[in-house]
Amino acid sequence: MYDPKSPHASEFINDNEIRETLAFADAHKNDRVLLEEILAKAALHKGLSHQEALVLLDCSLEDINQKVFALAKEIKKRFYGNRIVMFAPLYLSNYCVNGCVYCPYHLKNKTIPRKKLSQEEIRAEVIALQDMGHKRLALETGEHPVMNPIEYVLESIKTIYSIKHKNGAIRRVNVNIAATTVENYRKLKDAGIGTYILFQETYNKENYEALHPTGPKHDYAWHTEAMDRAMEGGIDDVGCGVLYGLTTYRYDFVGQLMHAEHLEARFGVGPHTISVPRIRPADDIDASSFSNAISDDTFEKLVAVLRIAVPYTGIIVSTRESQKARERVLAVGVSQISGGSRTSVGGYTTEERCDDTAQFDVSDQRSLDEVINWLLKLGYIPSFCTACYREGRTGDRFMSLLKSGQIANCCQPNALMTLQEYLEDYATADTKEAGERVIAGELTHIPNEKVREIAADHLEKIKAGIRDFRF
Ligand code: SF4
Repeated sequence: MYDPKSPHASEFINDNEIRETLAFADAHKNDRVLLEEILAKAALHKGLSHQEALVLLDCSLEDINQKVFALAKEIKKRFYGNRIVMFAPLYLSNYCVNGCVYCPYHLKNKTIPRKKLSQEEIRAEVIALQDMGHKRLALETGEHPVMNPIEYVLESIKTIYSIKHKNGAIRRVNVNIAATTVENYRKLKDAGIGTYILFQETYNKENYEALHPTGPKHDYAWHTEAMDRAMEGGIDDVGCGVLYGLTTYRYDFVGQLMHAEHLEARFGVGPHTISVPRIRPADDIDASSFSNAISDDTFEKLVAVLRIAVPYTGIIVSTRESQKARERVLAVGVSQISGGSRTSVGGYTTEERCDDTAQFDVSDQRSLDEVINWLLKLGYIPSFCTACYREGRTGDRFMSLLKSGQIANCCQPNALMTLQEYLEDYATADTKEAGERVIAGELTHIPNEKVREIAADHLEKIKAGIRDFRF
């Protein structure tokens, strides 16, 4: 039986419930009366159930789909404005004991060079990332109890936070490591991590077990219940995601929303972010052998419906996607992207693009400055802000801020100030000019006059080289 409050994966991700939802949506996908009812509920900006969301996703009526896209844009505008949060992945080690068939780090891959960064090498990578302008990282490692124990991850986090190079600093370290124990999650919390990220890959248990034939990750329940343990360990912000292409997208879309419903029901707060990666080629991985790959049109619609279904959850798209695909999903829901990424171990400090240890091929190979320039010219505000995390506005406290609509008076000025820092310290002349124009325009959109005045004052100070603000 589907029970979102149950701590057991078999109950909160219930296969029968998913299959009934798929059948229901199939039967009602073009039922105008129902679709209009769902849209009316969605227009309240309070989200949708997994069943309602799938009916919208499956709908093929052109006029209804136009309304779906319009509503997704409206919700994005209301909760996130034009801000796009920037981050970069940092690969620490590609040693892994698992057998995931879609990932080149799997244990049986004997062609990929194995590498683990020393603390000195991490220092060099972080300085390279700071010199690009990054403030927020997502740490990545394979699962290997001997090569990548929790102590190594904790030491690496400490190293990263300690590096202050010129005006640079990494202010938020998100961590994407294998499912672990409550005790280890507590240690990560104490180390000051931002979001704990773990992709489910697929919610379909049978496929999951076939795709993860060996290693600790084979255990579906251990993996699926990881976010529960992370929250029990005190981590407020968790980031979910499936790897689209492993199972049918409809199944995983429903599973993803059921997982979000479960976290909300059990802990009072849903996922902080949802990532939407699609399968990509890599070392010994041929993406075309995965028959469930989804088209760009389906991908765009999926992001739009996700935006409507979970309005308070950030949506992340990485450099797996091309510039063109990213542009489409930014418009309808994505609120956080990576830029200038290297998906190999030590990739930021190698002279030439050296991807022999890469986890996947990067589609968007532009530099961070090129990505920032592009975002500015599309009218977005690239944001390097981490203030919520630093001020303790995480978990339900962050959600309250989002739900109250006060984000325009809080995130908007912070985004502008961190963008100004970037423009002063790292931008090319063309990016700086584009950024100054966006900041001047967006400043006038801060609703509260007092906040607007303070922001204007801070912007002038940043231009004058004063860096005593904490974002
Ligand atoms: S997906 Fe993660 S766990 Fe699986 S082989 Fe790759 S690095 Fe290891």
